[in-house]
Order: sequence, then C-alpha cells, then structure tokens
Amino acid sequence: MSDAGKRKPNVTYNAPIGSVDLVAFKEDGTSYEIWACLDCLPWHAELVRVEGELLVREWHAVDCPQFQNLISA
Ligand SMILES: [Zn+2]
Repeated sequence: MSDAGKRKPNVTYNAPIGSVDLVAFKEDGTSYEIWACLDCLPWHAELVRVEGELLVREWHAVDCPQFQNLISA
C-alpha cells in the first residue's frame, strides 16, 4: 500500500501559509470573536480594509484543515 497521497500535513511554524478574508461583523453589527487556530502553529490574523469594508484576514498553514475548510466554503 502506498501512502504517497496521505503525507502528514505541514502545520509547523515554517510551513507555507495562505490567507482567507472573513467578514468582521455579523449582519446586525455584532463582531465575530476570533479564536486562534488549534490546528496550525503559524496562525495569525490581521484587520484589513477592502473597498471600505473591514475584514479579518486569517493566515493559516496551507495544509491546515481549518484553512482548507475556509477556502472550500
Ligand atoms: Zn490553521
């Protein structure tokens, strides 16, 4: 049996990272809470303004399962 397609995800501090932009507020204006990712170490977040809207940009390891969920949603 080959396990070539099942390599261990690289979620260490020096793993390649990718970002996803999330809305910072719900429709009614309440803010979302941001919790550090438990599945990857390089996780961090920044606030960005895109076309006047404030967004939360989360950075994860590219292999992070949370990140994969976020970008496939
Ligand atoms: Zn993550």
